Amino acid sequence: MSQEEPTLRVSKIKDGTVIDHITGGHALDVAKILGIAERRAGIITIAMNVPSKRMGHKDMVKIEGRFLAGSEVDKIALLAPKATINIVKDYKVVEKQRVKLPDTIKGIVRCDNPACVSNSNEPVQTKFYVEKAEPLRLKCHYCGHVMDKKDVLKQF
Ligand SMILES: [Zn+2]
Repeated sequence: MSQEEPTLRVSKIKDGTVIDHITGGHALDVAKILGIAERRAGIITIAMNVPSKRMGHKDMVKIEGRFLAGSEVDKIALLAPKATINIVKDYKVVEKQRVKLPDTIKGIVRCDNPACVSNSNEPVQTKFYVEKAEPLRLKCHYCGHVMDKKDVLKQF
């Protein structure tokens, strides 16, 4: 058994981002956030079911030639709260950050309840409480409506 988790297997890109420690099976959700279907994402490599000491199995997503916007990192935190984001420059990891799922989510997700005040014409920023991180469970501050990962994912 190697001592290191097999990050190197997919980290050999010149410049870009490696999203590691994605919960097994969630790589495609993460790729969706990055706009894989819109062809604006650059070269994306997806590795699924990679053995991990910490997680059993994990997924990884590698994006060449692109760094993530803060809003993309916030969305990834919703779907893969254990993920680490490695910034690669000139084949070296120059920065490693863990995503952070805050207790309160503001403005990233819309409430599914059409009658919710956040869906009216009032200028109200959406606000959700994270009741559970994995599987995701969000509760609307305004109307108490509960949303899960599937509901959130269809907005991205
Ligand atoms: Zn609501």
